[in-house]
Amino acid sequence: MGNPYRLLTSNHHNEHTKGRSKLMTMYPELKLFIGGSWRTADDDLPVRNPATEEIIGRVPIATQTDLDDALAAAAIGFAAWRQTSPRDRANLIREASRLMRERQDDIAHSITLEHGKPFREAQLEVIRGCEFFEWDAGEAVRTYGRVIPSAPGVKYIVHHQPIGPVAAFSPWNFPMSQPARKIAGALASGCSIILKAAEETPAGAMHIAKAFEDAGLPPGVLNLVFGIPGDISSYLIPSDTVSLVAFTGSTAVGRHLTGLASSHMTPVLMELGGHAPVIVCEDTDVEAAAMTSATRKMRNAGQVCTSPTRFFVHDSVYEHFLDVFTKRAEATIVGDGMDPGIEMGPLAHDRRVATMASLVADAKDVGAEVMTGGQRIGSTGYFFEPTVLANVPDHARVMQEEPFGPLAIVNPVDSLDSAIEMANSVPYGLAAYGFTNRSDYADRMVDKIEAGNLSINTLEASLPETPFGGVKSSGYGREGGFEGLQAYTVVKNVSHSVSIV
Ligand code: NAD
Repeated sequence: MGNPYRLLTSNHHNEHTKGRSKLMTMYPELKLFIGGSWRTADDDLPVRNPATEEIIGRVPIATQTDLDDALAAAAIGFAAWRQTSPRDRANLIREASRLMRERQDDIAHSITLEHGKPFREAQLEVIRGCEFFEWDAGEAVRTYGRVIPSAPGVKYIVHHQPIGPVAAFSPWNFPMSQPARKIAGALASGCSIILKAAEETPAGAMHIAKAFEDAGLPPGVLNLVFGIPGDISSYLIPSDTVSLVAFTGSTAVGRHLTGLASSHMTPVLMELGGHAPVIVCEDTDVEAAAMTSATRKMRNAGQVCTSPTRFFVHDSVYEHFLDVFTKRAEATIVGDGMDPGIEMGPLAHDRRVATMASLVADAKDVGAEVMTGGQRIGSTGYFFEPTVLANVPDHARVMQEEPFGPLAIVNPVDSLDSAIEMANSVPYGLAAYGFTNRSDYADRMVDKIEAGNLSINTLEASLPETPFGGVKSSGYGREGGFEGLQAYTVVKNVSHSVSIV
């Protein structure tokens, strides 16, 4: 196949790029937020624009003193915040969210500069982050307990109380909406939080902290730190102050942090990797399924834990699906997310480019066909071609390892049962998808697919109102829906007799 990528560079002169130098200056000065104050640090790390590799800011590295201060502040913040009414908490979260909606474009500019995604996607991410806050604010007033029927003179009442200060770790793929999920759950439940956001993409979380400061959040309820990830997690997690560890990231790191937390009997909420299968049945509208799948695959340059990746397509529609999917993938307009019309930006950092290249090389070596893509684009910026691999042997690394990039595997299957078997053949179980109009096929997928989220005829896997999370090595616990707040609360049963018995 040809290789007709259209890499739009930032040399285009138009209304959008004319404002570019002004936008560059809008990237905020990066600071820690501890006990209600902003602070800098002696040491820092560079933050790069992945489209240009230019350094756009420097992120401070928290010292042990900073972390001690954050722990002390979180303890004080929790004592104050847990005493507020759920309605007051909800109102404050809504006010912060209103400010973030008002600042949508500023936040989106920061996100595109530090992460690379198209500006329009960054704008939508800000809205999604606000929706997380607004949903959890709504749930704050509905963390109902229950009254258990009892003998006269005694009452059994179940309360859901805030669990305590949370140590949270958010990844770089959604710089604003990933921190939003954790901050929303903690604050709505009455907890305080110390968030270590991703050093690659720190500004998204900083904008959130600023909005909460401006909305009047008491000091210490939300604390934001950055630094060396391993140093921070190994210092915060063993602390007696920390009552919950919430992490989103790779399974390897999640496993390590769960081990650390379990030795201190600290509960965890783990949103880890995925390797989402998509089952395409013979009865579906093949063209529509292929078009929507290829478009979705390239969202966020495939750096989404729910990204549709392993396509298992019935033999009878395989060639048609592969053809439409490949053409749509190779027509993707790749470039600097600040330029108009871009559909896919660069990968977020150079580690992803190296992983993608090595997964493709391995797949080719063992006999996969590269239908399109497979290469880095250019030498500046972390751009990678939208890539479609066909007939990939089961023993290729990419069949087991999550590519976390713009890469799709399209393989033929002879039946729904073999598709389900392949879908379940990885250690992950986060999102899974199916395309079919037959209710018996859909029922079989619901019964048999090992995943926390199954979407049929839609590639939407996670909304503020639906519970999201994994089975198997994809994690533990749920974010979103009313289930989302459960991790941030503990159950206390109260038995109350009117006289001493
Ligand atoms: P990585 O494993 O090096 O890091 C993943 C995340 O964990 C990063 O944000 C990193 O800062 C953080 N981290 C690493 N070591 C840590 C530690 N000891 N303590 C606390 N935090 C730590 O991988 P990467 O190259 O940055 O990302 C690629 C992989 O991460 C992907 O394969 C994917 O599985 C996973 N990931 C998942 C999500 C998600 O939404 N579930 C998001 C981003 C990344």
